[in-house]
Amino acid sequence: MPGLVRLAEGVYARVVSPDSNAVANSGFVVLDHSVIVFDTHFTPEAGAELLDAVRAVTDLPVRYVVNSHGHTDHTHGNQVFAAAHIVGSDRARRDVVEIDLPAWERSVAAAKAEVRALRADGASKEAAASLEAGGERLRQRERYLDTISRLRILAPQVTFERTLSIREGGREVRLLHLGNAHTEGDIVLYLPGEKIAFVGDLFFNRAIPNTDDGRVLEWGTTVDAVLALDAETFIPGHGDVGSREDVRAFARYLRDLQSLVRPAVERGDSLQQAIATIPVPAAYASWGFQNFFPANVQKMYIELKELQAPTPEENPSGKR
Ligand SMILES: [Zn+2]
Repeated sequence: MPGLVRLAEGVYARVVSPDSNAVANSGFVVLDHSVIVFDTHFTPEAGAELLDAVRAVTDLPVRYVVNSHGHTDHTHGNQVFAAAHIVGSDRARRDVVEIDLPAWERSVAAAKAEVRALRADGASKEAAASLEAGGERLRQRERYLDTISRLRILAPQVTFERTLSIREGGREVRLLHLGNAHTEGDIVLYLPGEKIAFVGDLFFNRAIPNTDDGRVLEWGTTVDAVLALDAETFIPGHGDVGSREDVRAFARYLRDLQSLVRPAVERGDSLQQAIATIPVPAAYASWGFQNFFPANVQKMYIELKELQAPTPEENPSGKR
């Protein structure tokens, strides 16, 4: 199986290209009587490939699907594992129910309206050339509508705030919410017996992280909590399987980002000035996802600015 990495007896990571329809990594753990899957990729098709990878190793049923957080590239393959319990943090469930589900409903409604409009347009057109061009566009949008209509948004049903352990046979699987980071709902799947941690998007290995839904000031502390685990192997949401040194490099990146942006905020630079004048440090110039860097600067700038804001007592208008 391409991308399947055996980390220990019954413990596998599926490391994928960010350009594939899988987008984010996944993994699974074979217990005595069942299988735990960690993240399900970006599409049901990629989720089905993950199920094929499980089937290449074992016939045991997939009883649990753990979502590291609520983002689409980790959850949209969930429907392939419909017989499993979907497990995640309370906040990951909230993100799927309150953000992803309405966004999907809006996309389906918009695609339906567009297909309807293109069909009406096609019926009224006379010129053969424009009919043909319109027909191609219509077929493309019909395929898209068909694809997203078949998607089922399944939120975690078994949820927890801080920790949940699953034990079967001799194996203990610990699920841990260690703090705010890439989202407010990130969890880690930790195997103390094997010293392995699946850490989702808490850790981008040799890549600039996506910080859009994150808390960048707290993220470094949460990565320190990951490093406090007795683990040697760390599977990121994006990038290759990493070592402790790789995770430390990522923690350093988050601290360096703060050191770079803080003087700009203290000088009173505008956000645009900060983005324009702060380059990616040389140590991280070879990392993936360089296009995320301006958004990283922006997120750090906004969080530092919030810290600077006067308290409500000093600011009678109450605006922050
Ligand atoms: Zn994510």
